[in-house]
Amino acid sequence: MSHVQKTSLNLTVGSQAIDLYILTNKNGLNAKILTYGATLVELQAPDRFGVLNDIVLGFDKPDGYLQNEPYFGVTLGRVANRIARGRFTLDGKEYRLSINDGPNHIHGGLKGFSKVVWHAEPATDKDGAGVGFNYFSADGEDGYPGNVSARVVYVLTDDNELRIDYTAKTDKPTPVNLSNHAYFNLAGAENTDILGHELLLMADSFTAIDDTLNPTGEIMSVQGTPLDLRIPTPIGARIMQIPGNVGGYDHNFILNNDSGKLTMAARVYEPSTGRVMEILTTQPGVQFYTSNFLDGSIKGKKGVTYRKHHAFCLETQHFPDSVNHPNFPSIILRPGQTYRQTTVHRFSVK
Ligand code: BGC
Repeated sequence: MSHVQKTSLNLTVGSQAIDLYILTNKNGLNAKILTYGATLVELQAPDRFGVLNDIVLGFDKPDGYLQNEPYFGVTLGRVANRIARGRFTLDGKEYRLSINDGPNHIHGGLKGFSKVVWHAEPATDKDGAGVGFNYFSADGEDGYPGNVSARVVYVLTDDNELRIDYTAKTDKPTPVNLSNHAYFNLAGAENTDILGHELLLMADSFTAIDDTLNPTGEIMSVQGTPLDLRIPTPIGARIMQIPGNVGGYDHNFILNNDSGKLTMAARVYEPSTGRVMEILTTQPGVQFYTSNFLDGSIKGKKGVTYRKHHAFCLETQHFPDSVNHPNFPSIILRPGQTYRQTTVHRFSVK
């Protein structure tokens, strides 16, 4: 039987206690999520022999997540990804956000939705065991206008899917772009690189980037570039051909889906274990990042040192720096509207 279990940890931030929720589905798969950052800290998936292993990077001890510089598994908000120089103008007024990535603002800023304790309660539904996380982000937090109430619900379905539903409301117009920053290695988090994983990305184009990884505003075709992943391709096959000093993939792909309906975005296959992860999303984009900035300075689960290309992220979202590019789909949420997005990670074997 699928079930939800809450564990109180001996860990606090200020006066707030941090809890861990464990979702188990009827096949014995587990997802563990911390109330700090509504962070996915463990995800078990079966290999072709039915053997479960944890496929997301992170820390053995929960206090590791209090200094989680690479954003392992966190919920990103109020705006995931970069905002150039932390500035934007909305309805004629300029806003200045906290700067935390070279000259830019990234992943919601110094506080962001990833460095706060969320209020949680079980949210099991007809599909499986679930937990809902709520966070109230006050007007002015990290420089953003408006009080935002955000909710993220994780459900581990009995069909071996991890579904994440996001909703948000505001009392003033404000940008909202929520995502999850799990780092996957489908061979198991202790394995050293993802260069042999095969990736299919349903994207004909991507947003071109400058030296600080911000979009230039130009939309480019993947045709004839190492970003053409429209047929399954080992991640390592053309990673060295990525231009610039990026060190691998770190690009927003424009999904072939402008309907806003839940649509297949990506499929990743790991040949040695047979694990397959499909990603379906309502979002228009996905940041494909091959952990180029993991440099061996972090010891993660089981004492394993995480290095460049140890894992990949597929962060479903709206495009980076959308607030400064009128040609990108808008991320402005207005009072009376409800922000709603869903991403599904579906696990199987081949
Ligand atoms: C970005 C990377 C960044 C990483 C950690 C990813 O979403 O694309 O450039 O280094 O997050 O902040």
